[in-house]
Amino acid sequence: MLENKFPGKDIELDDIKTKFPLVAKKNSKDKNSVFEINGVQFGSNYIPIFAGPNMVENEKLIIDTAINVKKIGANFLRGGAFKPLTFPYRSEKYNETRLDGLKWLGMAKEESGIGIITEIMEEKYLDDVCKVADILQIGSRNMQNFPLITACAKTGKPIMLKRHFGCSLRDWLGAAEYIMVEGNNKIILCERGVSVPHTHRSTSRFLLDLQVVPAAKDYTHLPIAVDPSHATFWRDWVEPMSLASIASGADAIMLEVHPDPENSAVDPLQPISFNAFDDLLKKMKKIASAIDKKIG
Ligand code: PEP
Ligand code: MN
Repeated sequence: MLENKFPGKDIELDDIKTKFPLVAKKNSKDKNSVFEINGVQFGSNYIPIFAGPNMVENEKLIIDTAINVKKIGANFLRGGAFKPLTFPYRSEKYNETRLDGLKWLGMAKEESGIGIITEIMEEKYLDDVCKVADILQIGSRNMQNFPLITACAKTGKPIMLKRHFGCSLRDWLGAAEYIMVEGNNKIILCERGVSVPHTHRSTSRFLLDLQVVPAAKDYTHLPIAVDPSHATFWRDWVEPMSLASIASGADAIMLEVHPDPENSAVDPLQPISFNAFDDLLKKMKKIASAIDKKIG
């Protein structure tokens, strides 16, 4: 088992060997997990890209986005039919989505052939979500919703577990262990920004914790994705932080991409356009090749 680098100092990780035997590396030379989802490799030197809108707003938007992001080079379409919105006062647009959103995701998949990653919030919709999703996304807010995680794990579907913005690496790995203990090994961890005190927060909604990428790799064999869109909240910063994410060792990148970013139904400051996605992908490829990795 991997030794804690800072025995006695980082008490959080002292017990990793006994508490997280399945997600933990046995020693630092242990191989990373490599697996395929829809023929796309995770955990190797290939870096899959997830792209799409925050929310599945309507049929036309999601089909259009699926076709375009696939053409540009994304491996999976992202988009929530179910959204953990901060306030309960939802627009008509939101109320129309949910189950319809899943139907539209299915249509987008059929039209474009791209794989789908979408969020699951409630166990009662698990069968519906599983019909369309190639990867189940557990959102930040549900990272420690253990009954939900366990139910998702039991479906055998690949799972992306987003890190809660207030949780440590230890908490995150503990949640992943809940998935592995059900015999489900296709797990992608996703860093999406952490909450910091307000004194440090004038610049962004969350702070993208890129140090957690190499840190996590010290302790777990699971692939680590990064979502710079949710962390920065500002589209202008998505590019630099995406490039930094690749440099930090990220195994996959999730990006919010929208056909009309300013008019996104949710968080309109955050998504980037198709053109910006195209440009960014070209730059990310250069960083990836500099560290012997590959995108596209
Ligand atoms: C999302 O990816 O749509 C999302 C809601 O992200 P998070 O759970 O990280 O806030
Ligand atoms: Mn969001």
